[in-house]
Amino acid sequence: MIDLRSDTVSLPTPAMKQAMVDAPLGDDVYGDDPTVNRLEAMIAERLGKQAAMLASSGTQANLCALLAHCGRGDEYLAGDMAHIYRWEAGGGAVFGSIQPQPLPMLADGLVDPAAIGPAVKPDDPHYARSRLLCLENTKDGMVQSIDRMNEALAVGRAHGLATHLDGARMWNAIVALGVRPDAFCAGFDTVSMCLSKGLGAPMGSLLVGPADLIAEARRWRKMAGGGLRQAGMIAAAGMYALDHHVERLADDHANAQQLAEGLAQLDRVEILAQNTNMVFVNIADAPADLDDRLEQAGVRTGWTHTNGVANTRLVTHLGVSETDIATVVAAVAQTCGIKPAIR
Ligand SMILES: *Cc1c(COP(=O)(O)O)cnc(C)c1O
Repeated sequence: MIDLRSDTVSLPTPAMKQAMVDAPLGDDVYGDDPTVNRLEAMIAERLGKQAAMLASSGTQANLCALLAHCGRGDEYLAGDMAHIYRWEAGGGAVFGSIQPQPLPMLADGLVDPAAIGPAVKPDDPHYARSRLLCLENTKDGMVQSIDRMNEALAVGRAHGLATHLDGARMWNAIVALGVRPDAFCAGFDTVSMCLSKGLGAPMGSLLVGPADLIAEARRWRKMAGGGLRQAGMIAAAGMYALDHHVERLADDHANAQQLAEGLAQLDRVEILAQNTNMVFVNIADAPADLDDRLEQAGVRTGWTHTNGVANTRLVTHLGVSETDIATVVAAVAQTCGIKPAIR
């Protein structure tokens, strides 16, 4: 099955599983798991930060970051389509009484720098205390350069805000930009990233930042039920992913580009965007049971249908090969009854 629904469906490779089996283990709640400790030290060093914390998920890493930065009655500023604001069940509000201040985002996913200053609240009892600016990169696969992120970060810092990057897919951005990971993260106090998406680990995320904030985040992680015991098995997968699966993200980007180019050859297919490992696509007059038809052709997708137009996001990852791309294009053509245009 070629599963293009998300890079979260990527499975651990045999070599990654072996690394998990071989990992020395201990009780990480006692700080005793040598593999977790190694992973945390390794990522902190690679990103030029003091400390790191392994979390169960990206949502948990972002939640712990919000809770470490902000207290009750504080607020964080984030894009109105940012994952941390929109797709994490309002955890900052539920666990921390932290108010979100959603802000408009520009076409590349950057929080509009011009919107930040006016949204920061004056020191006045009427207002929540503005504490933290959150950016996201990549956003829907879109990459913001370091300079571009700095446009927003500079405004945030000028207003005394701390800064957090939701870097769930930041390795895709780092590879696409060809920059050093420490340079990419330099403008942020804290950074979160997923090990379980394009990097192919079965679970786990990391939060990286200053030692005092990470210590605070650990308290919240424990409270949120994220104090894991022999977590070295997860850390070993994450370490393997960081050592072996970062550079190959360029293959995913190339495959996504090929997929976009292949689908663009088909009548009735419109490529809305291709960013890093994501392709956004519309098909006019698509069959309502397109999911099932493609499934029977060995391609797993999830389409939404509006007025006869099927729309989806197709995501490449380490479970999708270059030869799979031709299979997918042929399957779309066949299930939708489209003859490939000869051009
Ligand atoms: C997936 C994702 C998260 C959350 O990660 P989970 O591991 O699914 O909780 C956070 N931010 C962004 C941008 C993501 O894509």
